[in-house]
Amino acid sequence: MKEKGKKSNNKENKNENKKDSKLIVGLVIILIILIAVTITGVFMMKDKEKEDEKTLAYTDLIKQVDAQNVEEVEMTVGSTTVKVKLKDQEEEKTSIVPNTEAFINLIQTESLDGNEIKLTQKPRSVLVQIPSILVSLLPTIIMVALFVMIFKLQGLGEKGKVYEETERKTKVTFKDVAGLEEEKAEMIEIVDFLKKPEKYAKMGAKIPRGVLLYGKPGTGKTLIAKAIAGEANVPFISMSGSEFIEMFAGLGASRVRKLFEKARKLAPCIIFIDEIDAIGSRRNSNGGAESENNQTLNQLLVEMDGFESEETIIVIAATNRPEMLDKALLRPGRFDRQITIPTPDLRGRLEILKIHSSDKRLSEDVNLESIAEDTAGFTGAELANILNEAAIIATKNEHEEIENDDIEEAVKKVTVGLEKKERVISDKDKKLTAYHEAGHAVVSRYLPTQANVKEVSIIPRGVAGGYTMYKTDEDKYYISKTEMKEKLIALLGGRAAEKLVLDDISTGASNDIEVATKIAREMVTKYGMSESLGPIDFQGKEPYEIQMFGENIGDKIGQEVKQLIDEAYENAQQLLIAHRDKLDLIAQTLLRQEKVNEKEFARFFEDE
Ligand code: ADP
Ligand code: ZN
Repeated sequence: MKEKGKKSNNKENKNENKKDSKLIVGLVIILIILIAVTITGVFMMKDKEKEDEKTLAYTDLIKQVDAQNVEEVEMTVGSTTVKVKLKDQEEEKTSIVPNTEAFINLIQTESLDGNEIKLTQKPRSVLVQIPSILVSLLPTIIMVALFVMIFKLQGLGEKGKVYEETERKTKVTFKDVAGLEEEKAEMIEIVDFLKKPEKYAKMGAKIPRGVLLYGKPGTGKTLIAKAIAGEANVPFISMSGSEFIEMFAGLGASRVRKLFEKARKLAPCIIFIDEIDAIGSRRNSNGGAESENNQTLNQLLVEMDGFESEETIIVIAATNRPEMLDKALLRPGRFDRQITIPTPDLRGRLEILKIHSSDKRLSEDVNLESIAEDTAGFTGAELANILNEAAIIATKNEHEEIENDDIEEAVKKVTVGLEKKERVISDKDKKLTAYHEAGHAVVSRYLPTQANVKEVSIIPRGVAGGYTMYKTDEDKYYISKTEMKEKLIALLGGRAAEKLVLDDISTGASNDIEVATKIAREMVTKYGMSESLGPIDFQGKEPYEIQMFGENIGDKIGQEVKQLIDEAYENAQQLLIAHRDKLDLIAQTLLRQEKVNEKEFARFFEDE
């Protein structure tokens, strides 16, 4: 029932290093605890052995004293354990004395009575007490160890590792970056500067300090930054903005300082800061975390302003939320270059698919062009992920090579999730899903701006009970209001069909409703498509800012959004009533064969 949703898996690689170190830290913790337990265990066992062989119960000790068999008693201050040397035995025994004072009295009186017992009193011995000291210290040791670990997790002690990982020169070059020709062309200048800084200095040219890359996650921002380092053959130091945000105040700033210290040693080099919005978001809020961010941000600004002209360090930062950034970052001498990294167009996608399939065994029937056509809006990371999934699917299917079907299956897996054939579904649910999906498909068939249906299925995939896939045959840069309104109708077609046929509605439409609401809200607040409110950006504004545009403007926004949705829902129902025959036909076919492909779908409408 999900229309189209994409997962991005590209962050996974980045986190792997982190995961590794967390794993090591975890192992160390376990090791320390194990060692501590073993040590105390050994001591305790020794104690136990001693007890067994050499202890003398207090009552027995008194008997021995009475029998005049005790030669010597050695006591330790503050301890109830005494050592006893018996006359008839070589070995020393130990005994626990409940009341030491009374015992000393007893021995002294015995001695006066002629039963001579040598009594020595020793100061507290550390050695004797090691086991108990250890035991009492154990919690402290564990606590300290844990603290150290927490600090490590926070990244305090990890620094060396982070940099070691990244300061190695990368082998990535522009050849590895597909598409993005214009963006690469812009970067060539920076590469040249890193290679021959003197040339620019002689000319008196101001050198770029910071480059900000805007773009969705997975569009290749990190990749292009690495490629710059690779092309210029300089070290690449990277860190993620979120790593600067710390539980402990001031740590973020000190990490920035350390990062730049390191860079100065390695210069010429590239510093890459991913997710810079995490530290560089606007300094306006009031929370505590915010002020920590400010310190971090300020430190970053200080460092960038403090670059000497002969220092060849370029800071490349990436974000997918440029509107969040503090304007101070964009001032001259800081990130004064901004480059947008777009999601790849048809040609770009084809290039990316080619690069990422070059190391894979592709069957001859694979048509990368058609895959590129089917994946409008996908990022480079998603495309790379699709090919990897395809390789896994091909292996599972025991194919010799990756076949076209494997790739198509991978596309579906990435967009709607994994097919779950084994999930048992009741007939009632099946009918509901069949009508829901048929509803989407039929409604979109009668909407001129909506893409053609590629496949309808009631086999569950991922969280979706079924899905309707559309053909995306062109890359669009603009979407018209009509198209958006029709999109709303298509989205609500599923719910409308449920209502019409089963006279009941289900939770299955929740994703459709979520997407539809978002589109309707953006139409009103972002794209200025509401007649009565006009082309004003209301997005993310505080209530008082919205009040500026008039009384109760918030209510009006709500009304407009609701009206768009109501209208679309009404339209969807009308379309389905008018074409009830098709709806039934397709739903019944789905119930029979679970899937309807593009050709079969088109055949249902041949009579028109
Ligand atoms: P971002 O930093 O924008 O989130 P990444 O640079 O980390 O994205 O991209 C993740 C992965 O996606 C890359 O390692 C690469 O495998 C693939 N990728 C993304 N864009 C491209 C591209 N233009 N050419 C080739 N591979 C790409
Ligand atoms: Zn749906």
